[in-house]
Amino acid sequence: MEFPRRGVMLVLASPSGAGKSSISRSLFGQDPNIKLSVSITTRPRRTDEIEGKHYYFVDVPTFERMREDGELLEWARVHDNYYATPRAKVEEELASGNDILFDIDYQGTLQLYEKCRDDMVTVFILPPSIKELRARLERRAQDSRGTIERRLKNARIEMDHYDEYDYVIVNEDLENSVQRVRSILAAARLQRRRLSHLDRFVKGLQDQIDSI
Ligand code: 5GP
Repeated sequence: MEFPRRGVMLVLASPSGAGKSSISRSLFGQDPNIKLSVSITTRPRRTDEIEGKHYYFVDVPTFERMREDGELLEWARVHDNYYATPRAKVEEELASGNDILFDIDYQGTLQLYEKCRDDMVTVFILPPSIKELRARLERRAQDSRGTIERRLKNARIEMDHYDEYDYVIVNEDLENSVQRVRSILAAARLQRRRLSHLDRFVKGLQDQIDSI
């Protein structure tokens, strides 16, 4: 039996190359209740990226105006660019019972903790080894040598924050990791605080006992 419920904010974080994007893609493919939070960013669009699907690409004045007008749930400067989560869509999806997947860094996660802790479940994904992390970064033909080295250095910093997350997964096998994230989400969906109409349901059960 399903109760109407508020959506879950599922934050997946990892150093780049640990497999977060593959895990997210697979989750989406399997579950129409999961929506992606599309961020805004001031970084240039990569050739394979689609406006409104991967990001909303904005200039710095637009980012600053949105930040000043309170339209952003969180924001951060990552790799010399601004990234932020627009607020309106998130509120709308949660209220209609859809879960939202966030691909944001630890700075953004900390800001969300302050505002929406009860709605959130956070997962940190680690690579099984640095050899594997490097190999995954190198397989992404897009990135130059310098970028790969910079991302490795960044990975070290990001890993410092693993203990700020609710769950940690070492991504050795994609299917197994996806299964683990699905289990975490399944449990979060059943948390009592998310379920509405429970009072009425329990009262109904008690009334039936009373009338026996
Ligand atoms: P990329 O430029 O490779 O798409 O993303 C770089 C980093 O920015 C990733 O670690 C990603 O998690 C982070 N990021 C993307 N969108 C947001 C956002 O809206 N807020 C925050 N805080 N980080 C973001």
